[in-house]
Amino acid sequence: MRTEIANASFRGRFVLAKRYIEEGEVVAFHTETVYGLGANAFSDEAVLKIFALKGRPADNPLIVHVHREYDISSLIDSEPPYAAALRSAYLPGPLTMVYPSTGKVSKYVSCGLNTLAIRVPSSPTAQAFLKEVDLPIAAPSANLSKHVSPVTARRAWRGFNGSIPLILDGGACSGGIESTVLDCTGDVPQILREGLVTREMISSVAGDCKVYRAQTGERPKSPGMAYKHYSPRCRTAYFTEVDGAKRAYLEEKEAGGSPCILCDSDAARELAGYDILELGATGTVMAQRLYALLRKGEGCATLLVGIEPRARDGCMAGVLNRMRRAFGAEHGMEES
Ligand code: AMP
Ligand code: MG
Repeated sequence: MRTEIANASFRGRFVLAKRYIEEGEVVAFHTETVYGLGANAFSDEAVLKIFALKGRPADNPLIVHVHREYDISSLIDSEPPYAAALRSAYLPGPLTMVYPSTGKVSKYVSCGLNTLAIRVPSSPTAQAFLKEVDLPIAAPSANLSKHVSPVTARRAWRGFNGSIPLILDGGACSGGIESTVLDCTGDVPQILREGLVTREMISSVAGDCKVYRAQTGERPKSPGMAYKHYSPRCRTAYFTEVDGAKRAYLEEKEAGGSPCILCDSDAARELAGYDILELGATGTVMAQRLYALLRKGEGCATLLVGIEPRARDGCMAGVLNRMRRAFGAEHGMEES
């Protein structure tokens, strides 16, 4: 199969995408967070294709994407008032909301859970695609399971060239990390995965917001959080202090390797003469650059040394979560 990257100059691209989706194919598409790998959420066969293509564990559910006018009332059983308020405040945008499901979509989307995760992306490319197909599209990130999510069409192509027919190119993703996943089944909203829509932003509309932390040994409420994830394909080391990172870097150099340090702008100032990949100074910029730099690092370094950024404001909770997981610095993760 030839994999075509279709950009804005190809006028018939959404019509073509609709045809592929109706034929049960999987199509990759731009969103404001990362590229997604989408299929018709009503079709068992199409949804299972996504799991097979990614090598995704069968218990890690998918998010369903819809266009801004799509009526979700047939897909969800109930919606608390705070969730309706959050939808009007932040959607379309990088916020996924988990509701009690009516079970109308394929049972493979939610992997046996009685809930359904729904997202309305703001990317004009994603909106045009979703509007054209006018179906809920089940879509995880367009990376092979465990690898770093793609933030350009070219990166998605590298993972799936030859196995999907089409990638809808919308340029580089402005957000850079996956959506915030928010459980809206209880009296108070609860963040299952941190992202660009922060706890403060949710609290300011909903009045309150909890953050879910899985207890040791417990199966997490958001099954994806149990897995090692976002990992670059090279050796890694992770430090909270610059000195430790310097030592690991120099040891690798002495052993004949080519190390590289991924760090924020503050740490970068202490690392003159070292090979570095600079994340930036604010949460928004760090989110935007993180995955591109992880991919760059795995391409040029024998050892990628991460230094934990100092900032804690804005969307840093999401950035730190991805970074710690990419470097294997989060405990209790399974291998596949
Ligand atoms: P991805 O699309 O690859 O970024 O992964 C989707 C994330 O959403 C994973 O962490 C899933 O575990 C989570 N997710 C999807 N559906 C549900 C659901 N019904 N309940 C809880 N978490 C979900
Ligand atoms: Mg993913």
